[in-house]
Amino acid sequence: MQAQVVIKPGRERSLRRGHPWLMSGAVEAVRGAPLPGATVDIVDGRGEWFARAAYSPSSQIRCRVWSFSPDEAIDAAFFRRRLLTACEVRQRVGLSASGNTAMRLVNAESDGLPGVIIDRYAEVLVGQFLSVGAEAWKQVLVDAAMDITGCRSFYERSDSGAREREGLPETCGRLGGDEPPALVTITEGTAQYLVDVRTGHKTGFYLDQRENRALVAAACRGLEVLNCFCYTGGFGIAALHGGATMVTQVDVSATALELARRNAELNGFGPERSQVIEADVFHELRRMRDRRAAYDVIVLDPPKFADTRSQLEGACRGYKDINLLAFKLVRPGGSLFTFSCSGAMTPELFYKVVAEAAADAHREGCVVRELSQGADHPRLLRVPETHYLNGLHVTVR
Ligand code: SAH
Repeated sequence: MQAQVVIKPGRERSLRRGHPWLMSGAVEAVRGAPLPGATVDIVDGRGEWFARAAYSPSSQIRCRVWSFSPDEAIDAAFFRRRLLTACEVRQRVGLSASGNTAMRLVNAESDGLPGVIIDRYAEVLVGQFLSVGAEAWKQVLVDAAMDITGCRSFYERSDSGAREREGLPETCGRLGGDEPPALVTITEGTAQYLVDVRTGHKTGFYLDQRENRALVAAACRGLEVLNCFCYTGGFGIAALHGGATMVTQVDVSATALELARRNAELNGFGPERSQVIEADVFHELRRMRDRRAAYDVIVLDPPKFADTRSQLEGACRGYKDINLLAFKLVRPGGSLFTFSCSGAMTPELFYKVVAEAAADAHREGCVVRELSQGADHPRLLRVPETHYLNGLHVTVR
């Protein structure tokens, strides 16, 4: 008999509403001796069946649901179906038709595959397996994803802190096909980017910002742009393709800036159009303010300042600080594209922080667009945790 996890009375509500997590505190008993990552049935004390899930004995999230239908077996065919659906959904919303060779193919819970991230960079798939359930089905997922996409290699980037909470070691390396090249070239509209899938952030590139890069590009013709926390230059290169006269890219990481410089070169933009500054943005914006520098468009896309709700207050001070400085540096008539990728941040709170920053800088801002993660990083209505990227395009008078 398949092992069962019994829910405590009164703790069924979120599962009943289709949220795919069962927290450790809601577990009454475990029947049988499921191994980490094994498939279990979630039932209540009276025997009512709720879901089929992966069992994570060392995680706070004790079970992650694979399926809410009692007739669905969790086997290789199941994972193939989920992967096919994820690819189809992306085609249906027009993601494959737009000249992009890179996109997220599987966004974990949003695609019915908790713990599984699969990104495509041209012919290379890069995966993160962030739960013991995902780990247990890893090779099945790799084989099916390679078969469905026809990609030549599958590289693993399970070097995320999330693995530790599941009792799993961090691990990276080739899981299928050829060893990927040191740098993979991807195309995004008219732009090309070099992506380091082995050691770059996340799986190599900020795919979640693709739609926002296009919006920045559309707002930069003939203008001078400052791209803060530029990483490998994503927004800056997009701005240059959009006709920016000059882009200044700031980051603390010399490695990221070297790739930003190579990306500018790859796209045919020399030092007269693109410069990089290796500096702490918090300090650099103050230096710029003190020498009365000014820019037409400023992009602020910092790393996550808050992981949890308890860190949110400190994070807000950080966001306020850089946004206030940016409002001081932006020319009248210019634009600020400002982001937060802290999962604990809400759109309302971010809006408030940016509004306070504008007020303290004595600038009048006008929100022309609210921004979020791209369509290949869909947000599941019933899983609020799948929304993490908040952004605003603010024009400044
Ligand atoms: N905007 C980028 C992604 C930003 S990721 C893109 O679209 O590709 C965050 C970046 O901020 C990283 O490259 C990291 O090196 C950099 N960073 C973190 N703290 C910083 C600081 N205090 N000053 C400057 N850069 C910082």
